[in-house]
Amino acid sequence: MSLFTKIETPSVTYDQPTGLFIDGKWVKGVEGKTFETINPTNEKPIVAVHEAGPEDVDAAVKAARKAFNGVWAQTLPSVRGQLLTKLADLFDEYSDTLAAIESLDNGKALSMAKVDVQLSSGCLRYYGGWADKIHGKTIDTDPETFNYTRHEPVGVCGQIIPWNFPLLMWSWKIGPAIATGNTVVLKTAEQTPLSALYAATLIEKAGIPAGVVNIISGFGKTAGAAIASHMDIDKVAFTGSTVVGRTILQAAAKSNLKKVTLELGGKSPNIVFNDANIEDAISWVNFGIFFNHGQCCCAGSRIYVQSGIYDKFVEQFRQRTAKNVVGDPFKQDTFQGPQVSKLQFDRIMEYIQSGKEAGAKVETGGDRHGDEGFFIQPTIFSNVSPDMKIMQEEIFGPVCTISKFETEEEVIKSGNETTYGLAAAVHTQNLNTALRVANSLKAGTVWVNNYNMISYQVPFGGFKESGIGRELGKYALANYTQVKSVRVRLGGALF
Ligand code: NAD
Repeated sequence: MSLFTKIETPSVTYDQPTGLFIDGKWVKGVEGKTFETINPTNEKPIVAVHEAGPEDVDAAVKAARKAFNGVWAQTLPSVRGQLLTKLADLFDEYSDTLAAIESLDNGKALSMAKVDVQLSSGCLRYYGGWADKIHGKTIDTDPETFNYTRHEPVGVCGQIIPWNFPLLMWSWKIGPAIATGNTVVLKTAEQTPLSALYAATLIEKAGIPAGVVNIISGFGKTAGAAIASHMDIDKVAFTGSTVVGRTILQAAAKSNLKKVTLELGGKSPNIVFNDANIEDAISWVNFGIFFNHGQCCCAGSRIYVQSGIYDKFVEQFRQRTAKNVVGDPFKQDTFQGPQVSKLQFDRIMEYIQSGKEAGAKVETGGDRHGDEGFFIQPTIFSNVSPDMKIMQEEIFGPVCTISKFETEEEVIKSGNETTYGLAAAVHTQNLNTALRVANSLKAGTVWVNNYNMISYQVPFGGFKESGIGRELGKYALANYTQVKSVRVRLGGALF
């Protein structure tokens, strides 16, 4: 099997790498295994890619360690910045291809995939800007001592990413890691390996030295677990389910106590007060849950509307949702494509069934869309209660619940009644209400009169069981550096 395959998408034809990208070379997996990635729009295989097992993880770690101790340690911070900037420029140059691959493999609408590519290049450029601005402090203790701190790279970083935003997660992880002088072994999600592999060709083109970034395709229980328990990986960064997040922490604890950052799930409340601008609120609530087919860790899946506008809101929200065009991701007006996989499709349909059986009312949707591909109708449940599964568990699909509330105090309590704490939102025209509620919600991000607005300059991450650490912004740099204190004695002997 060749390591490149010509692939035709409705918008571009391109050469898809299918190998593992280790030490700057395209190679097959040691065990010689491959697996197919499926097009969620028509349920047919796109191409088979080579599968990494533990021995391939080991080879990638060795390459990353060699680069970390060698060429990358010798590379000036300003040059690291230039290389990241060059990589960002290449993302822009190849944006049509990257976006098409994302739509093909993940199923997201091409118009949305184009935004993902822009945000990815923006993120890489942003961290390119940081590369030569990372420094420690001097600290005065006494006249005889000079103290300073250095912010040194952590070392070899294992990065495990999910399938909902393959390219964005790639750049959120790789940008800060290599800006700060680390090297990387990144494993993609088995559902969506293609765009990350194509982006690896841009690593080569940008001139980033061999071994600094290694990209492998493979499964969680084998390649992912090998990363989490590897004795020569210094840090692991993971985005995905809370269940797997726990196993990563355990594996780190049982192996070499590698540093761990986790970006996990959510069940985020989206709160609309009587005095909100109702049209604006509806557009943000709709976007909050149905963007990316509900496959967002921060999806606003629990909607709370104050009693004075509840009936009007539900009716108008139903009408707004009916305008979301569900269909072929490559069609220009499509807003919502298929769910990523059969497994996700089945999981979501089970949640819809459980909502119906528990007595919730289907305001709209509640079924699959069409009869081919993993499409699900945007679904709104009302008449829900906090003990229902659909109110408690992350569905990760185009399904939300809508509940009525009376008072601010009551909705803050309901909003916080979850083990998660990734995001929340409040819609009101009263500044005092907005700030009081924003301060009271236990979430890493609170949006006021908007939803899902994520910028690479602003930190993102979870309270409670939604994660550990922050990605994006200056805050992410702390995850990829460790502080060394150096204490220089200016005087002579102690006694
Ligand atoms: P997952 O957590 O199993 O997979 C995410 C990544 O972790 C993939 O790369 C996978 O290969 C890897 N992985 C899986 N098991 C592993 C292990 N034991 N050790 C190391 N790595 C491992 O998620 P999923 O099964 O694809 O989706 C299940 C649910 O997870 C979804 O329904 C959703 O609720 C949640 N999810 C959340 C996010 C997010 O952005 N927070 C993303 C994807 C999925």
